Amino acid sequence: MFDIIIKNANLPDGRRGIDLGIAGGKIVAIEKSLPAEAVEIIDATNRLVSPPFVDPHFHMDATLSLGLPRMNVSGTLLEGIALWGELRPTLTKEALIERALAYCDLAVSQGLLHIRTHVDTSDPKLVTVEAMLELKEKVAPYIDLQLVAFPQDGYYRAEDGVKSLERALDMGVDVVGGIPHFERTMAGGARSVEALCRIAAERGLPVDMHCDETDDPMSRHIETLAAETVRHGLQGRVAGSHLTSMHSMDNYYVSKLIPLMAEAKINAIPNPLINIMLQGRHDTFPKRRGMTRVRELLEAGINVAFGHDCVMDPWYSMGSGDMLEVGHMAVHVAQMSGVEDKKAIFDCITVNSAKALGLEGYGLETGNPANLVILQAEDVVEALRLKPTRLAVLREGRVIAKTAPKLASLSLPGRPAEIDSGINPTGRPAF
Ligand SMILES: [Zn+2]
Repeated sequence: MFDIIIKNANLPDGRRGIDLGIAGGKIVAIEKSLPAEAVEIIDATNRLVSPPFVDPHFHMDATLSLGLPRMNVSGTLLEGIALWGELRPTLTKEALIERALAYCDLAVSQGLLHIRTHVDTSDPKLVTVEAMLELKEKVAPYIDLQLVAFPQDGYYRAEDGVKSLERALDMGVDVVGGIPHFERTMAGGARSVEALCRIAAERGLPVDMHCDETDDPMSRHIETLAAETVRHGLQGRVAGSHLTSMHSMDNYYVSKLIPLMAEAKINAIPNPLINIMLQGRHDTFPKRRGMTRVRELLEAGINVAFGHDCVMDPWYSMGSGDMLEVGHMAVHVAQMSGVEDKKAIFDCITVNSAKALGLEGYGLETGNPANLVILQAEDVVEALRLKPTRLAVLREGRVIAKTAPKLASLSLPGRPAEIDSGINPTGRPAF
């Protein structure tokens, strides 16, 4: 006897017609035609059941602040940073939590149940840190939130940047952040990477830096980050976020860099929506795309995970908390349109992201918590194409969000009365 049986589901690995039995909040059986009863049966015929989406790079303290205190007129990264600097002194803990909770509601409805958020530590008052620590407790029943101490205005460049970051870590922030390309000099950036990796090693914490978010091919802090990772024995616990300068580097240099990153087991976290929007702004034409070398990193065995980064904030006025929108953009910007490419992209917003965050018990396997999403699409390739309705989202065996399927009714002579947008119109599986 199960609490729930999800019947006849398709799984991300391509298996079709599989039953998932759930009891006591865990997945306890995954097989064809489970010969058992359940309190609740959910029919998932022709529907993909996926582990939850994981966003490894977000800014929860800035989300939904669009328009406060004004709009970003140029739409650039630097005006975004300036605008955030104007808003920051007016932030209150209550307003930060309220906006973040609203975003978390949206995230849950889209099956996004694990988020790593950078938290700005530039203002020594650390209202942002207090708010995000409280938020983490509030959402713990439905979202696993990891916090990164992020010195937005520079670890050395901001007054009190060093002290504020240390205090944020003392307060309980989980991960050491950084922004070496925003320090005053390249040398200052490299020093910040060295100092921050040392702090992480001493405190036993992971590292996740905004690294080389620029079109400057000489911005090479990722090289220092990889070297410091090895020096401090932090392999596998360090992430380089953005890495957009790699797009513009010369190929010879990259042929040395990527093996260094692989040796250090660096997690690479590009943010396709934001990178394609904000990079290449000083170019006329041809215009650079500004996303790092996803295919080449994957081919080198490097763990690549995609972040959403921003939703309706000073840097990005768009976004909807949908990691499939992120994956959809990645397919285009990374030009990963082959079938195996698309399967790899789906991993970048699910299993690879979970690995980057060091999540335990993640994935559709017996014994794991029954955290999953049922999508109105037949497989992972179709999910990337359609960004479909999340029919149900389960957390520890409980349905915490539901959306009605998107069905269009037609009034056309001789044509079907209804279209289910989740059914592949070719009639053939996408892989
Ligand atoms: Zn970011």
